[in-house]
Amino acid sequence: MLKSEYKIGRVWGIPIKIHISLLVLLVYMASNGAIAGGERGGFAGALGSVLFILLLEVLVFSSIALHELGHSFIAIRKGCRVHEITLMFIGGAAKMDSMPAKPKDECLMAIAGPIVSLTLGGVAMAIGIPLLYHSGGRGLGQFGMVLFYAGLVNLLLAAFNLIPAFPMDGGRVFRALMTPRHGRLKATYLAARLGRGIAVAFFIIGLFGLEHVRVFGMTLFRPMNFVLMMIAGFIFVTANREYRMVQVEELMRQRGFGSAWPGMPPPPPADDGDDTVVISPPPYEKGPDAKAELHHTQPRKSDNPFSRLFGR
Ligand SMILES: [Zn+2]
Repeated sequence: MLKSEYKIGRVWGIPIKIHISLLVLLVYMASNGAIAGGERGGFAGALGSVLFILLLEVLVFSSIALHELGHSFIAIRKGCRVHEITLMFIGGAAKMDSMPAKPKDECLMAIAGPIVSLTLGGVAMAIGIPLLYHSGGRGLGQFGMVLFYAGLVNLLLAAFNLIPAFPMDGGRVFRALMTPRHGRLKATYLAARLGRGIAVAFFIIGLFGLEHVRVFGMTLFRPMNFVLMMIAGFIFVTANREYRMVQVEELMRQRGFGSAWPGMPPPPPADDGDDTVVISPPPYEKGPDAKAELHHTQPRKSDNPFSRLFGR
């Protein structure tokens, strides 16, 4: 039976899963490597290429898992529960049932992943480059080459994740910085807006490429970069979804339904039976002070806040 995800381990009680899309990519890359290696050096060349690529893949995806564990470490310390970590071909994702309520904690959680990647990248480069330099790319030098590439991927991962495209790490930092000034809801709106703008830019870069931008002599963004276009689509959809979630949160909090996120502050005390709910969905588009007020004179027990929010 073909499953979409396979569990490969468990850290701090968090199941680590690998998505089928990633397995397909790994096999595809290894077989491409085998063909290229075989053309250069027969069976030995093919075997060498496959081992090189497999080792690189293991290092890269272990690094991505460690990046997600960096987020998870802070999240758990701040009282959140991490359900699972999934490794996909566009990167990793840690699924949590809540986010730290304090902006400072959210900022810390968001930055923890890139810090792990930056550290891993630095260490891999520091070992890999001398190995490569001293052995001229033979024997241990091959291992140095693998470490160099794995280090490069980690550094790029850290840099890429710090781009403020919500809900990527940099976008979460952006929201956390905006929250004290604008409140969580508007901060999320601004972050989602910026995230969607950057997603559009990513899609255009993915489509047309940026061939004159080179890192260590390598072109990172060739035209028709499907991974970048997929990431753009992911950001575009999830940025708004998370804004909607925060809207529901805010609505529930204001109406005294309690908090769906355990770490959130308790709802304010209900005042003299006034059942006015102030939410701020698209009205932000009209101006910073615009607010939508949902009035209903007769409060009813069966009135479901979700239906009104999603019924727009
Ligand atoms: Zn991250």
